[in-house]
Amino acid sequence: MSRIAYVNGRYLPHANAAVHIEDRGYQFADGVYEVCEVRDGRLIDEAGHLGRLRRSLGELKIRQPIADSALRVVLRETVRRNRVRDGIVYLQVTRGVAKRDHFFPPESVKPALVVTARPADRAKNEVGALAGIKVITVPENRWPRVDIKTIGLLPNVLVKQQAREAGAKEAWYVGADGHVTEGGSTNAWIVTQEGIIRTRPATGGILSGITRATVLRMARDLQMRFDETPFTVDEAKGAREAFNTAATAIVTPVIAIDGAPVGDGKPGPVALELRRRFHEFAEASDG
Ligand code: PLP
Repeated sequence: MSRIAYVNGRYLPHANAAVHIEDRGYQFADGVYEVCEVRDGRLIDEAGHLGRLRRSLGELKIRQPIADSALRVVLRETVRRNRVRDGIVYLQVTRGVAKRDHFFPPESVKPALVVTARPADRAKNEVGALAGIKVITVPENRWPRVDIKTIGLLPNVLVKQQAREAGAKEAWYVGADGHVTEGGSTNAWIVTQEGIIRTRPATGGILSGITRATVLRMARDLQMRFDETPFTVDEAKGAREAFNTAATAIVTPVIAIDGAPVGDGKPGPVALELRRRFHEFAEASDG
């Protein structure tokens, strides 16, 4: 089946879908994005993702290209036209197309919106996630505004590739103070020897993950003990469990950090339970 992409008001064959060479996303990474899980044809935690999109746009002073209600229609239509039952829907907004100049373009330049959707093999992803993943740790080298979900992901690209070359799937950034901030494309968590679920507070140094927020709500509702405090690499290595969260990863157990096993080197029961029950707590769009 041929794929379809939404580009500035039109649904185009994916192979021919393109933006102008002077799109500011291409020139300056001057844009933001969101990724939403699609499961059984429904968008997961859509309201959270659209809320964060509004915030990212506001922080960068980019106008929202279309109203939320229209955006929701485009997301669904892109999912439908690509016949995605399980997978992801991706949306990107840039400041638009203008003569290359660092200053913001005139008000008449409209922000550009692209939406794509892609199926995923849910069974295969499940097997991969349940095996657990290895992570490496790398020095934090990103700008301080990682709370904005910008398309400027070069540091993340480089550390993810470094992880792959080291036989791992994710890289955890470690700040100058020795605390883990987050993964290259995930939020980082541990379960301490006392059984407390720990993740860094979303008050700086990390993207405020939508999956993270749902997992915290879950932990509260399930009366699990949790604590939003930063942890060091040594604390993570000595933890009972570790895991990552993201819309694309849901909850993925971490079984080794820099080659050292976490706990008994197998996915832990807390991470597995959070993964198994995640969709009971996440919001699914209707139809
Ligand atoms: N942190 C970073 C750097 C990310 O890129 C992502 C997702 O792409 C996350 C955290 C997790 O965010 P979410 O749960 O909203 O997908």
